Amino acid sequence: MTAVGTLERASPAPLPLATPEAYGHDQALDAMLYAVRRMGIQATDRQVATLLSVAERHLLPPETDEEPFPHGTMRGYRRHRRRREPACGPCREACRLESAARRKRSRVQKPCGTEAAYHRHLRRWEEPCQPCREAHRAYVRAYRKRRAHALAAA
Ligand SMILES: [Zn+2]
Ligand SMILES: [Zn+2]
Repeated sequence: MTAVGTLERASPAPLPLATPEAYGHDQALDAMLYAVRRMGIQATDRQVATLLSVAERHLLPPETDEEPFPHGTMRGYRRHRRRREPACGPCREACRLESAARRKRSRVQKPCGTEAAYHRHLRRWEEPCQPCREAHRAYVRAYRKRRAHALAAA
């Protein structure tokens, strides 16, 4: 009998797939909530759950072909992209609709004197105008105040 054979025989049973249940989704959620509170981050349970689901997506093994493919959705489109394969018709259509909706949303621009317009100036390498600079100063003041409150409450 060779050493390799011994090793193989002694190796433990293959690990179960890392499904949320397998490594304690609820415990992970509790840990994440606790960490977020400790850091004084103002996040709702829902936001923390979203964070965890993002982390889990990256922890889970790549999806296999047995899972139903969400064709005709942005998720399906992104999955095609991840697999470096051309997206199917329904998924391409979903992506087209999504980017059309995004263009429509971005066409409604916030006027000057808002935080959004301030960042628009910066994105365009422009010097922010006076109303935008004031809006940004007020935003930063409010942010610092919120953060100070959060830290004091922690
Ligand atoms: Zn598809
Ligand atoms: Zn402006």
